Amino acid sequence: MRTVRVDTGKPYDICIERGILDKCGEYAKALSKAEKVTIISDSNVAPLYMDRVKNSLEKEGFKVATHIFKAGEEQKHLGSIAEMYNTLAEFSMTRKDIVVALGGGVVGDLTGFAASTYMRGIDFIQVPTTLLACVDSSVGGKTAIDTDYGKNLVGTFYQPKAVFINPNFLKTLDERQFKTGLGEVVKYSFIEKSCKCEEDLNLTNFLSEKAEMIVNRDERALSKLIEICVKLKISVVEKDEKEGGLRRILNFGHTYGHAIEKITKYKKYTHGEAIVEGMKFAFNLAVKRNLIDKNYKFLAEDVIKKFNFVDIPEFDMEKMIELMQMDKKATFDKIVFILPTDYSTVEAFELDSKDLV
Ligand code: NAD
Ligand code: ZN
Repeated sequence: MRTVRVDTGKPYDICIERGILDKCGEYAKALSKAEKVTIISDSNVAPLYMDRVKNSLEKEGFKVATHIFKAGEEQKHLGSIAEMYNTLAEFSMTRKDIVVALGGGVVGDLTGFAASTYMRGIDFIQVPTTLLACVDSSVGGKTAIDTDYGKNLVGTFYQPKAVFINPNFLKTLDERQFKTGLGEVVKYSFIEKSCKCEEDLNLTNFLSEKAEMIVNRDERALSKLIEICVKLKISVVEKDEKEGGLRRILNFGHTYGHAIEKITKYKKYTHGEAIVEGMKFAFNLAVKRNLIDKNYKFLAEDVIKKFNFVDIPEFDMEKMIELMQMDKKATFDKIVFILPTDYSTVEAFELDSKDLV
């Protein structure tokens, strides 16, 4: 088993292990005196993994309830939270009990939000089942729901009691969902030095050497990959739990990427595909502003090419600028851009719209 310790407020472990589904009960028992557990999952993940998690918890004597909602980002709203509260209350869950989030980022964000607010906070365990959830959304303690006025507009900071990851979950993910997680993975390689992790993890090398194994979802390569990415994200989050400064670097590729998602109404490209294009945009902009030389840009493009992301066409720049100015992270009319300044190094820049054309 690979274990990564997270030291934010209440420390917890992220455990990466092949057989973890059948050990959930044992591990939960060691962490908590809970009597009851509610497992929350979506309609795609529940048929695949729910029974094994439930059986493992029941074997250790927990009373278990389940709550399954229809899969999809459209469910990430307050109505779904209200239904979760009802399930928890009907099962008479108390503050000492546990909620388990079994699924991708949507399940994790919703469950985390419900857990952080039900009875003013109840323990929850994340069992992420998408690559994106393993390397990004289950790490860092952000929970969120969407409103009619924007994505992730409402949320809390709330750390889980533990995170259990089985790299083999990723074998049942469809290709596009797997790729969207790879977009975030590639991002970590370009920001690695700025993450200020004590360990030299050298993700760029790992990606170059193991690209084929990763694409083929080799279990050992994925375990190591997830461990590296988790360590990088934790290093940032531990230094900036509530998004004061350093955490901004995680937004590399996202300013332009979010605008692509918005201009295509979140329908045409996945988040990962959009941010890969956003990173390419950032590399070009960095060359234009003399922050990096062309060789680094070519090297970065080679890393990206290894994973065969879709090509996204250019959009009308004026419209894109307008969308970027509306981004949550923009200040007044300035747009915050994370740009590469050296190998695996990025910095935040506040740019005017005229700097982008
Ligand atoms: P998702 O949860 O919608 O999962 C993608 C699809 O894959 C869904 O249809 C799901 O049912 C299915 N699925 C999940 N695991 C599977 C498996 N093992 N096998 C087969 N199918 C499986 O999407 P996601 O990409 O995991 O997460 C996206 C969400 O995460 C967004 O809402 C985003 O805002 C959020 N997010 C949150 C944070 C954070 O810090 N909290 C960070 C990044 C993203
Ligand atoms: Zn992202």
